[in-house]
Amino acid sequence: MFIIVRDEFVAMQAARLHEYTHDMSNGLSLDEVDQPQITASDHVLIDVDGAGWCQTDNHIIEGMWEEYVPQPLPMTLGHENAGTVAAVGDEVTLVSEGDQVICHPVRTCGTCRPCRMGETMYCENDQFSGLTTDGGFAETLLTNERAVIPLPDGVDPAEIAPHADAGITAYHAAKKAVGDLVPGDTAVVIGVGGLGHIGLQCIDAMSAADIVAVDIKQEARDLASDLGAHHTLDPESQDIPSEIESLTDGGGAAQVLDFVGADATTALAPEICAAGGDHHIIGYGGHIHEPAQALVNGEFAYQGNIVGKYTELQELVALVDRGDVDLHTTQFGLDEVNHVAEMLEDNEIEGRAVITP
Ligand SMILES: [Zn+2]
Ligand SMILES: [Zn+2]
Repeated sequence: MFIIVRDEFVAMQAARLHEYTHDMSNGLSLDEVDQPQITASDHVLIDVDGAGWCQTDNHIIEGMWEEYVPQPLPMTLGHENAGTVAAVGDEVTLVSEGDQVICHPVRTCGTCRPCRMGETMYCENDQFSGLTTDGGFAETLLTNERAVIPLPDGVDPAEIAPHADAGITAYHAAKKAVGDLVPGDTAVVIGVGGLGHIGLQCIDAMSAADIVAVDIKQEARDLASDLGAHHTLDPESQDIPSEIESLTDGGGAAQVLDFVGADATTALAPEICAAGGDHHIIGYGGHIHEPAQALVNGEFAYQGNIVGKYTELQELVALVDRGDVDLHTTQFGLDEVNHVAEMLEDNEIEGRAVITP
């Protein structure tokens, strides 16, 4: 049985993509659209308190995702959402009206084989808010019960919103790395930006490894030290392989988390990874060009990482609730989305930008 919880055809504001463009000053338009309606028993309607703006939003506007996923335009962007439950379908029991939640970006089916194995990011029937279906740069977001996680008291939805994608991506990689880190090991974090600073805190919270942070910016290295890095390195003035060799007594880094993913950083792996270690690729854009023999000699691996799954977002919320992971955000209104896109393009955003519709 389907139910309509709210009055039909209430108008709302939404920042929508009508056509792909490289002109970020004009990427999205602020449209008046019908508020989404509950049409299935597992639906959850969210009043959006915060929706993180992500580099991926710029890439979506440029059309970079068009060949990878179905993207019906016009579409409301925004995949890092948190807010307050406004209405629920009649079979929803996890949350009720008034609850504050963070939304995993993927609405999964729960019945396909990957879902049943707990690998929800591989769901065969998924809908990705803000990427394949309307997202949270709007007053109201439609999602489902399988995507929402109730927030602990005292956690502000607008502050935590970017963890819905940026945070769990960093956490997902850090959790894999931590599983292979023992006390005395060294973990290297390359790039202490929006994702890297979260990944570093996750490693610090979950392992006893020594952490080496690598970044070209002094402010980023200072931030890394504040957040728990034991050593910081500047690749512009220091030779990273020889520095890591001396910091690890010649053994190399057991785990490397590469939040940059450029040719210059993937090329470090043969020289800085310990035998049996991993070089995790989280940032992307570059290529990997290493001789097969380098991987045979050191038996290290390049390890790919996608967005973390629902249960990993629960785990990250627990770390945030304990005060182990801080996120630096700056808030903007819904009418400032194109300005935010331009600022991100020019590297002018401090921390993560959050749209507050
Ligand atoms: Zn994102
Ligand atoms: Zn599924």
